[in-house]
Amino acid sequence: MILAVSKLKNPSSPADGYRGRFAPSPTGPLHAGSLVAALGSWLDARANGGQWLLRIEDIDTPRCVPGADLQIQSQLRACGLFWDGGPSYQSRRQELYQAAFQRLHEFGKLYSCSCSRQTIANTLAAAGIRTPRNQEMVYPGTCRPSQLISYTDGLLADSKKAWRIALPENCQIQFEDLFLGIQHQDLSREVGDFVLRRNDGLFTYQLAVVVDDADQGITHVVRGKDLLNNTARQIYLQQQLGYPTPSYRHLPLVLDTNGEKLSKQTLASSINTENDKSALAELRKAAEHLGLGSMPDGNITIAEWLLAATKAWRDVTVNAQSKD
Ligand code: GLU
Repeated sequence: MILAVSKLKNPSSPADGYRGRFAPSPTGPLHAGSLVAALGSWLDARANGGQWLLRIEDIDTPRCVPGADLQIQSQLRACGLFWDGGPSYQSRRQELYQAAFQRLHEFGKLYSCSCSRQTIANTLAAAGIRTPRNQEMVYPGTCRPSQLISYTDGLLADSKKAWRIALPENCQIQFEDLFLGIQHQDLSREVGDFVLRRNDGLFTYQLAVVVDDADQGITHVVRGKDLLNNTARQIYLQQQLGYPTPSYRHLPLVLDTNGEKLSKQTLASSINTENDKSALAELRKAAEHLGLGSMPDGNITIAEWLLAATKAWRDVTVNAQSKD
């Protein structure tokens, strides 16, 4: 089955109402990498005359750090990156995720799974399949029933199990990333049936992000390239739930000296926003990373600098597209 998404070149023009978002997980303060995602998505929204929403992705509650949400908001404000809506909190939107989950269930697309990571690793090893370090294991379908059942109630009775979506055979997803060009993923071979609800009862990022992007009318997703590998899964879920697919632009990652993506795990340090000068210095580094050349330097306010950055962004993105 080929589920190709047609050429998504800027499907929503600014006149249709551009809506972008920044969706940090509150696992720590902003670091150089997350500032690149914040600035890139903010600039894209501003350059298109659109709105920029802030969503705190605190769905994975055990990983959240108390106070990080407020710290992120104060860092964004210090950088002049004001948002037009929100912040919304995923932890307060469970009912929406539950409703989407229930719909998929009624369509007979889900099944419960009791496999631990170790069981999956053992099954793959027994089949001679080795998963390279840093790559997700492809679910081998151990718990998938031969016939899927559609449930209308009694869904949460089995709360100790995870719930996976059953992918069709040969589930191919193709989309055009506005920065990276045509992308393709064979979900059945590269991912396998994936989890929408964990065995601890939490809905997963994949489901929450798809429900939120649709519910909030997001037309453009601009985020770090580390999330590129999730996009096909999200497009597949959008198709199953009858949601529109936004356009995607994945931004270059900031790497540390070992070539690893900056993250809390790699002990990325917080950006310094203690005064305007330091915040501007952080913004300048992020803009350089985004490939914005000739930005004004010297004595300039953050607001003036952001205006110049918006123009520079428009030159490298919007104008470049209209010349195609
Ligand atoms: N919450 C995710 C993160 O902080 C971002 C999700 C997204 O932009 O789709 O990595």
